[in-house]
Amino acid sequence: MPKMIDRSVEQRTDRLQAGGVIDMHFDLLMDLYEKRKRKNLLETEFLPEIEAGNISVVGVAIYIEDRYLPESGLRVALDQIARLYAETQACPRFAICKSYHDIQKAREEKDIALLITMEGAEPLGTDVSLLRIFYELGVRSIGLTHARSNAAGHGGIFAPNGSSPEGLTGFGRDVVRESEALGMIIDLAHINPAGFNDILSILTKPPIVSHTNVRRYYDIERNISDEQIKMIGERRGVIGVNSVLVSPQEGESTLDRYVDHIDYIANLIGIDGVAVGFDFFEFIYSQWPESAKKELAEKLTTPQFIPDLRNHSHAGNLTRKLIERGFSDEQIQKILRGNWLRIFEEWL
Ligand SMILES: [Zn+2]
Repeated sequence: MPKMIDRSVEQRTDRLQAGGVIDMHFDLLMDLYEKRKRKNLLETEFLPEIEAGNISVVGVAIYIEDRYLPESGLRVALDQIARLYAETQACPRFAICKSYHDIQKAREEKDIALLITMEGAEPLGTDVSLLRIFYELGVRSIGLTHARSNAAGHGGIFAPNGSSPEGLTGFGRDVVRESEALGMIIDLAHINPAGFNDILSILTKPPIVSHTNVRRYYDIERNISDEQIKMIGERRGVIGVNSVLVSPQEGESTLDRYVDHIDYIANLIGIDGVAVGFDFFEFIYSQWPESAKKELAEKLTTPQFIPDLRNHSHAGNLTRKLIERGFSDEQIQKILRGNWLRIFEEWL
């Protein structure tokens, strides 16, 4: 039987969407860099989906692939930022934002706010003074590691256990302290359990986990445990739910399961602790040759994309599902934007 369209649900969805959705993790910069010979990518490849999904703020990540490391990490990071500046200049609908004020101004003017983030401290090498340079260029959030190890610490692996028992290095601790002093949000996504504890022992401001999932539904170290969720909640931090690791099973990778992750976090630490970090990745994955997909599957995992939450144009499907699952308007606004805005106000 075809599903009846409930007009009141549609009106509520539209009204909630109109305030804008904040996605704190998107691998935009590596794609802009890999396609650097092409122009106006933001406008032609990304803007239509972002507009269709009422996305108002996006955390856009610098990420350095293995093949550039260690020699070219800094160079590629700078080139990724350069691409973003060139692309936003060509498409003024986007604004690179460096403060809470910038973000609110962009939202009022219906521009799309971009917050530059760094996923893995590799571009710094072992030089903490480079943090200031990246800050000046607009980087406003940093996660110390991806799944691998680097000079700052170790990433959580895609298995229930077995990552390094070591926490942060001395350099990693310096990065946390200096980032907080500068006003660069510390992101605990990917860090291994020992590093997670080390960061929280140093940090005084509310921490974020920009894109992750709960281990209750996908039990790997890359995701977060109940105890870790509670530690974030105690510090008034925010956890963004990732769309590509909601379940190891293809059949269970559904929008309902995505909402289960939101619900689970909200039940543990309250609605103020949960938000969105979609990590939409299919646009990159689909460009890869089979050999690269195989390599990812062997090294980490095979991503399971949610059929009706595959890209930014699908954000309204999440809002509709949250309504159907019984969340109130106030709760939905917090999940979609309010909680991230609180973090921006406190940090930026
Ligand atoms: Zn990631």
